[in-house]
Amino acid sequence: MKFVVLRIGHRPMRDKRITTHVGLTARALGADGMLLAADDPKIKESIDDVTSAWGGDFFVEIGVDWRDAIRRWKGDGGMVVHLTMYGLNLPDATGEVAGRDLMIIVGAEKVPPGVYDLADLNIAVGNQPHSEVAALALFLDHLQDGEELRGTFAGAKREIVPKRNGKRVIS
Ligand code: SAM
Repeated sequence: MKFVVLRIGHRPMRDKRITTHVGLTARALGADGMLLAADDPKIKESIDDVTSAWGGDFFVEIGVDWRDAIRRWKGDGGMVVHLTMYGLNLPDATGEVAGRDLMIIVGAEKVPPGVYDLADLNIAVGNQPHSEVAALALFLDHLQDGEELRGTFAGAKREIVPKRNGKRVIS
């Protein structure tokens, strides 16, 4: 299974931190990459820096045309899910996405109406408003039954040795 996150509606002045967190969360929880439908090189730089220090091959692509990206993903046989509080609630939708290569769309303040139609499935992580970071994290965790938390990241320059107390990082 492949997971790619498509981040739409990013406003460079306001969303830098939260879009970076979308990318870091996607990476940490087992996604393959993030497509950003905005031209913001700083976001790519900071996520690439984390990947180069902490390993793995998470990719970030900026300046993506979201309609094209969705069409291409579907053309390659992938499924497109849009995380929105208005969608089918996650516990009722997991069966439909299991085992599929997924493009996971998350919005910012306002999501263009076309996204709801282009997505194969609109999924709510609970039908209450919250956050794209929380929605993405819970979605990825449910899909992988928590196993992503045991993931390893090849080529890491730094690795944390889990400890009850204190911090240990090996280089
Ligand atoms: N008000 C906006 C709208 O109606 O499109 C959503 C704003 S919300 C802060 C930003 C993003 O968080 C949404 O586009 C969606 O991807 C995600 N999100 C927020 N709550 C969600 C929920 N309950 N389930 C799934 N995704 C959610």
